Parts: sequence; C-alpha cells; structure tokens
Amino acid sequence: MKILKIDHLGIAVKSIDAGKNFWSDVLDLKFEGSETVEAQKVTTAFFPVGESEVELLESTAPDGPVAKYIEKKGEGIQHVAFRVEDIEASLEELKEKGIRLIDQTPRIGAGGAKIAFLHPKSTNGVLVELCQRD
Ligand code: ZN
Repeated sequence: MKILKIDHLGIAVKSIDAGKNFWSDVLDLKFEGSETVEAQKVTTAFFPVGESEVELLESTAPDGPVAKYIEKKGEGIQHVAFRVEDIEASLEELKEKGIRLIDQTPRIGAGGAKIAFLHPKSTNGVLVELCQRD
C-alpha cells in the first residue's frame, strides 16, 4: 500500500462553535466551513494546515461514535487519517496482514472522500482512518 501523507487529524469536540475559536482565532487557521455526515452522526469542520488538515468532530446524537468517545476519554485527538493511493487495495493488503478492520469496504465521508477505519486493537490503540480523494 502507498501512504501519500497525513490527510488530517480528527479532534473530538463537544461543540464546533465553541471549539473552533482556538483553531481559527488563536492559531489563525482558516475555517473552511462545516459539513454534517448523518450516516456517521457527526458534523465536521476542516482547517487546512499546510498539506494536511485539522478536522473538528462534533456529534449530532448522544449515541454517535464521537459522543461515545468524549464520554469515555474527553475531548481530544480521536483519529489520524492517512491518505492512500488506492483504498480498496490497501484494505485488502491490511486484511492479508491480519489487521482488524472496522470497515471492510470504504464508505463515503466528509468532502466525498472514500474512508475506512482500522481497529485500534491492531494499531497500538490509535484509531486510524484511511482516505482516498480523487
Ligand atoms: Zn477523519
């Protein structure tokens, strides 16, 4: 598999409105607007940082994955996303290497990217997202 770069860091926040002040006002990163992905019960807000981005994640429902994450661990870095050249081939290869996958096949995430998560049990406790943007 070929990893091209760190695509973004996913940061769980209770509120994008409250949370974005630090990123946009203090760090002076450009707020690129937010997008809700209902299937994942999350609203995302992207702040480009050079070749990568910071992605703030706010849950749209108390039973969403981001809400559950905050309940257990509090706000903070929730996942790291690597951009890959070919997500289907990458998942195949990881499966062959015995890596546990959360998503067996890619789904569509924010910005229309193809995304898939790997299980933290196989990745030293880090929720890893693969993403492919065409
Ligand atoms: Zn992400």
